[in-house]
Amino acid sequence: MAIDRSTIWPYEAGEPGRFYYSRYDHPIGVEAEEALGDLDGGQALLFSSGAAASTAALFGLLEPGQTVALAEGCYYGTALLLRELGRWGIRLVEFDQTSAPPAGADLVWLEAPSNPFLSFPDLEAATAHGGTMLVDATASTPVLLRPLEHGADVVLHSATKYLGGHHDVLLGALVVRNQEHFERIKKVRGLTGPIAAPDSAWLLLRGLKTLRVRVERQSASALELAGRLDAHPAVERVRYPGLGDERASRYMNGGFGGLVSFDVAGGREAAERVERSTRLIRNATSLGGVDSTMETRYRWEGDRVPENLLRLSVGLEDVEELWADLEHALAQAG
Ligand code: PLP
Repeated sequence: MAIDRSTIWPYEAGEPGRFYYSRYDHPIGVEAEEALGDLDGGQALLFSSGAAASTAALFGLLEPGQTVALAEGCYYGTALLLRELGRWGIRLVEFDQTSAPPAGADLVWLEAPSNPFLSFPDLEAATAHGGTMLVDATASTPVLLRPLEHGADVVLHSATKYLGGHHDVLLGALVVRNQEHFERIKKVRGLTGPIAAPDSAWLLLRGLKTLRVRVERQSASALELAGRLDAHPAVERVRYPGLGDERASRYMNGGFGGLVSFDVAGGREAAERVERSTRLIRNATSLGGVDSTMETRYRWEGDRVPENLLRLSVGLEDVEELWADLEHALAQAG
């Protein structure tokens, strides 16, 4: 795990060797890609962020004029990116990922589970559809779900979240099962330059060492908190795949992840009072780190989400301390 920060490596007998310029590849990056590829069962490519990975997937997999069928209510940044690409002729159709994707789409883009609605996609219907299938598995990680085993061609991770896991690295990854996709996406990465830096790759390798224990513990705590929130009078609705989502139970192994969304009774102001009243849980964006974070998503997404929806990312704190913090904050709702 030594970090070689070189950008160049001398030619060998006048010819480029395995590494020659770090925009294409560098040793610690390749080491981290091999580790992540093993976890997901494919070939991995690292990027400087999840958004960079998304962009490279779109440029690598699509031709101008083609159509992306995007899971409704998926990560807001992905929907915004695809709307932006409309200017370059990429067509966008949003659909309910718990049912079959629209016929004729060239790329089907799913999230398992989606952020922040936590819906779980119909992977069988997407496989039967026949378009290239990409699953953003940021919220499940390869610990809980390996989409390449369920028909996906490409898996996307914002490795900024669980894979890095400590709120200290911005990173993305694509994992593919087919050599042609690998080469096309790698070519886009080399030409446009969003490869992950060596230090970031090192932080990913460090994060992967504890990934399983973190995700298992975060999932166990999230399940416990989701059940308690569901029974709380100040909570109108809880969204968590572990609360009876039959499809998620079939595909996810060993837990349902650390993300829980819930709607606070009393509307937007009540939800804002709750997010500002926690002491242990940080009122911050992002997810998947060792520290719990919680925020209203309305601030970013507007009417696309209920204005009283709070997204909680459960960290590694003691579950009873987390519950005490939530109970205290929920008491401020009304
Ligand atoms: N995909 C999902 C599900 C996300 O939640 C995010 C970020 O929040 C991204 C992709 C984009 O990742 P990044 O912020 O690392 O660019």
